[in-house]
Amino acid sequence: MSTLNSETNFKCDICRSEISKTIFSELSLGLDYGKHDFTLEDLKANYVVCQHCGTVSQYPLPEEDRLQRYYATSQGYLIANYKNDVYQHRVQMIKEVTSLSKGKALEIGSCKGVFLQMLHEELEIEVFGIEPSEDCCEYSEKVGIPVVKSLFENVDLENEKMVGEFDIVIAMCVLEHVKSPRAFLDKMARTVKEGGYLYIEVPSSELLSRFSTKCRFGENVNKIHLYHFTGQALAYLVNDLGFAVVHQSNSNDFDYPCLHIIARKISPSLLGEEVFLGQINIKKRKVKEIAERLMNTLQQNRNVVLWGASTELYDVICSYPELKVLTNYILVDRNPLKQGKKMLEIPIYSPEEILSRNTDCVVVTTRNKGINASIRKDVGIMLPGVKCVDM
Ligand SMILES: [Zn+2]
Repeated sequence: MSTLNSETNFKCDICRSEISKTIFSELSLGLDYGKHDFTLEDLKANYVVCQHCGTVSQYPLPEEDRLQRYYATSQGYLIANYKNDVYQHRVQMIKEVTSLSKGKALEIGSCKGVFLQMLHEELEIEVFGIEPSEDCCEYSEKVGIPVVKSLFENVDLENEKMVGEFDIVIAMCVLEHVKSPRAFLDKMARTVKEGGYLYIEVPSSELLSRFSTKCRFGENVNKIHLYHFTGQALAYLVNDLGFAVVHQSNSNDFDYPCLHIIARKISPSLLGEEVFLGQINIKKRKVKEIAERLMNTLQQNRNVVLWGASTELYDVICSYPELKVLTNYILVDRNPLKQGKKMLEIPIYSPEEILSRNTDCVVVTTRNKGINASIRKDVGIMLPGVKCVDM
């Protein structure tokens, strides 16, 4: 372990800080899956963390010709079909956060166009791709998705009429492969309309704790990943490029841990107020969805117990007064301080008080995972055999 200082030429690509520390020296990680050229096989890399933004990068970065030889022969992208299974979650996330329902989407590194196709079907949005692989481009065009066959870095945006053209521009699992994420994102940013969105997905930095010399399938840590990001650093970068982060989350669908960022291009015509109200609308839509689901449950069952006088339930009932008209449910809470009181005029019972009643279905109203699990356990003991669902 050694400490690099400003005498070396290290400069963080994301935040420009020169303060860094070497966290791994001469580490030879595994490579991407699939067939590939072996020029990178012997690559031993140093990994440096930027002390300012937390971005980890290989240092020095591999030579350009080595990378190009690798990508020219790698077929990892072709066997990555399991990715289709994780796309649905992404499509829903974009739909919820952006509310886009028309306009144009561009995906950089669009592969065979599977994600764009799903986005087109769900959002009724026009879709376009940029993709260097010949085979992938052919496939995309066969299914009707227009693609520019090129590395994004080489695309002439003016020529292709892509400047300020798109409502959303997407890069999934791309940024960690490029030598300058800042330059790449800067170029991406130019293709986004004012008020439009960027969707960025990179391997989750939670993985860094699992750094080892072996690459395990699905872990996303391998030597072809030149950078490992924190959400904080990416937020800093998109901010610097004139965007405001409107969503940031981690996911681990199918052992494929990712960090997701959706950022909105700030423009003089888009006031902070609108960004803020946009956030509130996301919450409102979520509450409405939950309320409709609860309404359905209440209509399909005769005697329902709503378990938990939770803030979630409070929000749902406030936003959906129709729920108060139905009378086939009672409200239960394990907290003695709540028992005997009322929430929005609905009396709160203790679990013991409802044991003799006929119950067809219990709805657990909290989304807190720990509390939810413990309530389900109690329901299993106190009301064995009764159906138990989430709100
Ligand atoms: Zn940095």
